[in-house]
Amino acid sequence: MTKNGHQRLVIPGPVEVRPEILEAQTEWMIGHRSSVFADLFARLQTKLRQAFLTESRVFVSGSSGTGLWEGASRNCIRDDRKALHLVGGAFSERWAEISQLNGKQVDVIEVEWGQAHTPEMVADALRQSAYDAVCVVHNETSTGVTNPIQAIGEVVRQYEDTLLLVDTVSGFLGTELRTDAWGIDVALTSSQKAFALPPGVAFAAVSDRVLERAQQVKNRGYYFDFIELDKSLQKNNTPSTPPVALMFAADKQLDDILAEGLENRWARHHHLRDLTHQWALSRDFGLFAQEGYRSNTVTTIENTRGIDVNDMAKFMKGKQFEMDKGYGKIKGKTFRIAHMGDMQASVLEEVLSGLDEFLGV
Ligand SMILES: *Cc1c(COP(=O)(O)O)cnc(C)c1O
Repeated sequence: MTKNGHQRLVIPGPVEVRPEILEAQTEWMIGHRSSVFADLFARLQTKLRQAFLTESRVFVSGSSGTGLWEGASRNCIRDDRKALHLVGGAFSERWAEISQLNGKQVDVIEVEWGQAHTPEMVADALRQSAYDAVCVVHNETSTGVTNPIQAIGEVVRQYEDTLLLVDTVSGFLGTELRTDAWGIDVALTSSQKAFALPPGVAFAAVSDRVLERAQQVKNRGYYFDFIELDKSLQKNNTPSTPPVALMFAADKQLDDILAEGLENRWARHHHLRDLTHQWALSRDFGLFAQEGYRSNTVTTIENTRGIDVNDMAKFMKGKQFEMDKGYGKIKGKTFRIAHMGDMQASVLEEVLSGLDEFLGV
């Protein structure tokens, strides 16, 4: 493989991709109207359903996750109705903005960064007003908070007309998510975070209820029209040219993920999280996210030692690790350690001992 001065990515996306996955992208190109492509699509479909724990369908989108945010908002929210967005960090905030920019009416339940949303908050809002959709981020990457999706799902499922839309971009496969069992209507993810693929392809598990809803929405746009995506999907195809090389990579990555086993994968991430927490607390750092809701895939460390995060990142670069310095308004006050995707304990331990060297402990 070519060498671009390999820095091992410890940032929360894009994450490190294993060489064999990068390699899988170098297959000879195939035409996407060929039977070889249909076979690839069908294989992927079976594995994606297992990964999302759904029996419905999983769209493959030649976009990043942001595209599917737009798709979910456009297809699921009718013009004269509203969506309820649960906002508590940079990503959940942006999704709410995207719904508005697509002309949708939006109410927001906002919590402070670092806090989780509770099912009670959602229950209160749904008692007061009718919503076409509740939009929630499973794992808020900017803060390291994991929202209680199963409990929120139990509340939303009591309302027949309300769809549950979940962004699991940085949670998917790193922490438990059961699409069908938890009553999730859209579960969307990007490739380059917890899925540990290169960027450029996104996936969404979509329920039958969503397709019924989409029929009632006039302006669904074209690129992310779920009705069109579904028509093509039934023929093992996509409406426009798909990211074939990335689909080769996904095919291989899903084999490895399913061989590891979903529950084992969740457990591995939980262990990585515990290692990171123990390290942070024993070095007199704090943990930014509310206790009980701390992410399996990314830990946001409260910079209680007042280290210079730029110096830290520079030091770690010397060890070929690319580090995060905190997101947006909490940059520097916090920094994040991503332990998602195919991260292994041995590599994380190398990261933490590098940080110890920087701290001089
Ligand atoms: C990164 C991220 C997104 C945006 O995904 P892109 O693939 O960059 O478009 C959305 N939601 C969450 C939680 C993220 O971490």
